[in-house]
Amino acid sequence: MSQDPTSGLAVIGDHVEETPDLQGAHPRLSEAQIAALAALGHRRATRPGEILFRQGQRDCDFFTVLAGYVVVVDGLGTPEERVIGVHGRGRFLGELSLLTGEASFYTAVAADDGEVLVVPVGRLRELITGDPAFGDLVLRAYLLRRSILIGLGAGLRIVGSRYSPDARRLRDFAARNRLPCRWLDLEADPGAEALLRQAGVTPEQTPIVIAYGRLLRNPSNAELAAAVGLPAPGMLHAGSDLVVVGAGPAGLSAGVYGASEGMRTVILDSTATGGQAGTSSRIENYLGFPSGISGAELAERAVLQARKFGATFAVPAQATAIARDGGNYTIGLGDGTSVTAGSVVIATGASYRRLDVPRLEFFEQMSVYYAASQAEALLCRGDPVAIVGGGNSAGQATVFLSRHAARVTLIVREPDLSDGMSRYLIDQVERAGNVQVLLRTEVRELLGDQALEAVAVEDNQTGARSIVEARALFVFIGAAPCTEWLGGLVDLDDHGFVRTGGTARPAGTADGADGRETGWQRSVLETSQPGIFAVGDVRSGSAKRVAAAVGEGAIAIRLAFERARAS
Ligand SMILES: Cc1cc2nc3c(=O)[nH]c(=O)nc-3n(C[C@H](O)[C@H](O)[C@H](O)COP(=O)(O)OP(=O)(O)OC[C@H]3O[C@@H](n4cnc5c(N)ncnc54)[C@H](O)[C@@H]3O)c2cc1C
Repeated sequence: MSQDPTSGLAVIGDHVEETPDLQGAHPRLSEAQIAALAALGHRRATRPGEILFRQGQRDCDFFTVLAGYVVVVDGLGTPEERVIGVHGRGRFLGELSLLTGEASFYTAVAADDGEVLVVPVGRLRELITGDPAFGDLVLRAYLLRRSILIGLGAGLRIVGSRYSPDARRLRDFAARNRLPCRWLDLEADPGAEALLRQAGVTPEQTPIVIAYGRLLRNPSNAELAAAVGLPAPGMLHAGSDLVVVGAGPAGLSAGVYGASEGMRTVILDSTATGGQAGTSSRIENYLGFPSGISGAELAERAVLQARKFGATFAVPAQATAIARDGGNYTIGLGDGTSVTAGSVVIATGASYRRLDVPRLEFFEQMSVYYAASQAEALLCRGDPVAIVGGGNSAGQATVFLSRHAARVTLIVREPDLSDGMSRYLIDQVERAGNVQVLLRTEVRELLGDQALEAVAVEDNQTGARSIVEARALFVFIGAAPCTEWLGGLVDLDDHGFVRTGGTARPAGTADGADGRETGWQRSVLETSQPGIFAVGDVRSGSAKRVAAAVGEGAIAIRLAFERARAS
């Protein structure tokens, strides 16, 4: 191998080996599909070492290889440069970022004298919409490629100490937003110090993020989002018909249906699209997916669908206040901006409950998790782990992590798994060879000096104590509603969930003394304020299921549409 002077890439020479097509991640287009694309773009020759698009570049074109090979490289020109794919005739380039508007997570370099077909991404979107078979092929490949990139640790670099809360925040933000990244732990990874020296940063100045050659010193989540091209709240247009607060399954559903009905729709989320479902490794009871679907994939598909219909996303964008403003509502955001609309869908769901044990905050910085996705599985590969909780989310995490961890101990307060877990999951838990279930058991202490080493548990009937070895603790013990931002504008139940429907007020009565309108019929998902709907887990009496959340999102739009038409 020699070094190409233009790209800096190690030239592969004559013996190019194409990356195998694993499960449809790198399909080859048919001649008919290439002909359809050719009508939307142009062909051009490539030279060896020519860069087609760079890591960090936004709004790239859609390239299909017609002759020769294209090499996909992570960290081109850096000491960590590595080839992550080689593609020949009929293969197309890019991954999910091409459709979401994020910056590219890798660089594509022509390996030899060849030819590519170049199609502007806008035209690609038209073809995806007009040709469902082609659309499915590209979408499936792009979703798989994103997973592969995450698994490879390509893209961003996060460097810091495992004991730093900011490092943990950045890792969580990257994981929840499914941003491919590599975590370099100052305490354990020799490469971390070398990278810091190269960047001219001392360990005290960490955490840092290296995003496409740019150094970000302890960036806020919003700064990291801006660097990778996630949609910022500043891009929101002033007037909207519908604001959906929360982009879990309920909010994404409301967004898809709202935008598809032609409403100018804005969808906000404080952290990431996908909500609680996005943290689930495999949802097996959602209609239409007999072999299950990961929460991340479900969310990614829904985001693309909502965008296709014209919805605008803002992430991270935390709703901090809401006020009535004539016939509209204005939602204040954490960055000081606001967004106004005639209809609001509250879909802020619920956030995890924390264990009541000493030193929890300390261990939360490095060893306690509230999600069990691919990102967490990579961090605890080969380790013994413990999971607390007796519901379906704990069951799913147990089954998923048993494939990555050395041993899994499931700690359940109730005397029987069937008290809170679906039968299909109990069967899977029982079948996993490396899972131990402790019933009637509660966590009392977290043990370890620098990081978690074990948890002390107690039998809640006999009081007998024992020690469970665990390098990571996963907590799934229910969730509390995210309703503080509503500031009393809508009625809540005794547990803080939003009340909807119920008692209809007599038509024709005047506004009440508290300013609330009383002369209207409250529909099933409508809150105590006309035009504000609540859907999914945040709603009082909700089913706490993905399918229910999705259904409610769709119904709320129907009701919002009718209300807007009537007023
Ligand atoms: C690990 C796990 C596995 C699960 N598995 C299953 C399963 O297999 N099948 C099933 O049916 N259900 C499952 N569930 C339950 C299911 O995920 C929830 O019922 C569903 O996600 C609820 O959707 P939602 O949109 O109402 O709320 P959430 O999913 O909670 O989403 C709410 C969103 O609102 C955002 N938000 C909160 N506050 C604000 C604010 N102030 N401003 C802006 N955004 C805000 C949050 O960041 C979040 O993204 C699982 C849950 C978990 C945790």
